[in-house]
Amino acid sequence: MALLGACIGSFLNVVVWRLPRQESVVRPRSHCPHCGTQLRWHENVPVLSWVVLRGRCAHCGAPISLRYPAVELLVAGLFVATALGSPTTLGGAAWLLQLLAGWLLVVLLVPLLLIDLDHLWLPEPLCRWGVVLGLVITAAAGFSQGEAPGRSLLFWHLLAASAGLLGFEATSAAAQRLLGKPALGLGDAKLAALLGAWLGLTGLGLTVLLAVFTGAAVGVIGLVSGRLQRGQPVPFGPFLAVGGLAVWCLGNPFWLQQLGPLLGWSAL
Ligand SMILES: [Zn+2]
Repeated sequence: MALLGACIGSFLNVVVWRLPRQESVVRPRSHCPHCGTQLRWHENVPVLSWVVLRGRCAHCGAPISLRYPAVELLVAGLFVATALGSPTTLGGAAWLLQLLAGWLLVVLLVPLLLIDLDHLWLPEPLCRWGVVLGLVITAAAGFSQGEAPGRSLLFWHLLAASAGLLGFEATSAAAQRLLGKPALGLGDAKLAALLGAWLGLTGLGLTVLLAVFTGAAVGVIGLVSGRLQRGQPVPFGPFLAVGGLAVWCLGNPFWLQQLGPLLGWSAL
């Protein structure tokens, strides 16, 4: 699973580089961005090639960013984490279906996270496909458990996708009026819709809470340490993506238990 994750991570590096530049993600084959030499298969092995080449292009010696093997390791780790996790957002669907769904969610969220970090932009097609795939997976997982659970699951996930989109758009419009400048990108609304389609209403609510808490913590640390300037735009998408993966892997009950006392939901 880790090996598969590392290979997928290698492909996602290509997606993150090429998608914002409107290049095809399949052609041409991977090449050094400095000298343009096409990589041979043994120069394109996830993580290992970078280590063997000591982070330099074999042809021109240009440095290769540490980020490439880091992303490959990250996706390898996430593939294992989703397999070991206990997702609850699809009800009691078959293990294999949950596993493949978790991997697909990782494949959607990692590029969105990295592209938002790089360009403060969440590509619309990726979000749109993410919503569609999330609803398809939800329907498959739901109806495989019977007619009634299928309908109920699909209903709540559709509702969550709409609530995510409209809730974030409304917040963004309100913030624009109050502050006189955009506080949330419209991409965040589309990412929230994606997360709603995958995680349902409770899962989306937990994800947004986690994103707000971690975002605020990072913001305060950034300001205190001087790494962030006041008024500097910070993408919110990465916090949503990380929150969504945390909710997927550990399940709603875990987070309700963790966050409940913090919010005074003693009844939960
Ligand atoms: Zn080169």
